[in-house]
Amino acid sequence: MFRKILIANRGEVAVRIIRACKDMGISTVAVYSEADSEALHVGLADESICIGKAPAADSYLNMQAILSAAAVTHVQAIHPGYGFLAESAKFASLCEQCNIRFIGPDSTHISSMGDKDNARKTMKKMGLPVVPGSESVEDLPEAFEWAGKIGYPLLIKARVGGGGRGIRLVAEERGFERAFLDASREASASFGDAGLYIEKYMEQVRHIEVQILADAYGKVVCLGERDCSMQRRKQKVLEESPAAGLPEETRKNMQRDAVRAAKKIGYANAGTLEFLVDAHGNHYFMEMNTRLQVEHPVTEMVTGVDLVKWQIRIAAGVPLSFDQRNIRMQGHSIECRINAENPAMDFRPSSGTVEFLHIPGGPRVRFDTALYPGCTVPPYYDSLLGKLVVHADTREEAVRKMQAALAELVITGVETNIELHIDILAGEAFRNGAYTTGYLESRNES
Ligand code: ADP
Ligand code: ADP
Ligand code: MG
Repeated sequence: MFRKILIANRGEVAVRIIRACKDMGISTVAVYSEADSEALHVGLADESICIGKAPAADSYLNMQAILSAAAVTHVQAIHPGYGFLAESAKFASLCEQCNIRFIGPDSTHISSMGDKDNARKTMKKMGLPVVPGSESVEDLPEAFEWAGKIGYPLLIKARVGGGGRGIRLVAEERGFERAFLDASREASASFGDAGLYIEKYMEQVRHIEVQILADAYGKVVCLGERDCSMQRRKQKVLEESPAAGLPEETRKNMQRDAVRAAKKIGYANAGTLEFLVDAHGNHYFMEMNTRLQVEHPVTEMVTGVDLVKWQIRIAAGVPLSFDQRNIRMQGHSIECRINAENPAMDFRPSSGTVEFLHIPGGPRVRFDTALYPGCTVPPYYDSLLGKLVVHADTREEAVRKMQAALAELVITGVETNIELHIDILAGEAFRNGAYTTGYLESRNES
């Protein structure tokens, strides 16, 4: 097993990984930007190194600085968390060259799945149903031709997009050209790649994703699914596992497809296949995320499997110690993403100093966060403050437990979206589990 790991991230996920290392008796090295010198992950790690100025491009995305920190502290592995360099094939391959284990799949899998056009082709070849759409489009005339074939409404998507960015909905032909140019500009600015493709816009669908764990010896297990249909601007707000009311047949088919695909491509480590599921229970592959997901705790709660520890073990060459038949899903788990956002200003990110903090507790209530009273929430990074997660025997009880936990949670000094979650949980569509990805936005229009 590794003796020392560097965590190339910040915030709640850095803290989550440090905690896993402590359980495993592994020493930790934190890296931080000038804006994060007082951050919790720095305080919790055994060693820490400043890697640059506040903007992510100068610090958490600065590969040279991170690799230098890894070299001077003699770590054997780097955990990238999610976001930042987690899906950078270049970074994974640089780690490999420096003889440092990248805790994730190998760089070839990151690059082949990170290109969504390529991922769609690969999955299609393996017989998975894929969201109808085009291949990569080179220019406007070619895109326009595809659009005619696919039909409206459609989505223009960035080939290497992520985090809900680089996506444009086009309702009818006359909006196409402008949306195409917009998407191309955004993709190029956010991802350094202007490549686009087109998908049919599927209405009244659920976003349901399947978690898999694969070891380096070809064993793949599936850890059930997560329903991530509660979204705002194509970004996940609340997640749950299992997906309420999902037909057993659909569940089985998705899990079978996910495991088969991972096996066939020779994938190793944790991964997620995202699907859209229509009203008839048909599932369509959307993309694969080759990393730890933000919402991984709901899977941990219902399976009892620690995903971060298994990521580390798999990277160190440890074989999975259990089989599919050993995995039993128990009860129901819900996660609310608590963001620093101002609801009065269209959920604009908020920053500041946390004054008062009360974290809910009790059996099966978990709050993954890097907050403490007096800490700074800098304006430079993602607005996620923490993830409130509950687990109960039934969905009804999980909902009540989450309502009680949200009512207890107090964060002052920055604006938050806590009220939004309270509203969501009180809504009828959420109560009967019948919400689709368009739910939150349609509710705001009415
Ligand atoms: P998950 O699928 O784990 O829920 P999200 O889509 O919410 O992931 O993204 C997780 C984090 O990673 C967010 O902080 C998001 O902004 C960031 N992220 C995801 N993909 C990219 C990307 N390609 N480039 C930059 N940031 C990304
Ligand atoms: P990202 O890489 O940013 O996560 P995704 O391809 O996963 O991008 O899409 C983000 C979200 O956009 C999905 O969770 C879903 O709600 C919505 N979406 C994506 N593709 C489609 C589609 N073809 N039809 C309807 N909704 C879609
Ligand atoms: Mg996605």
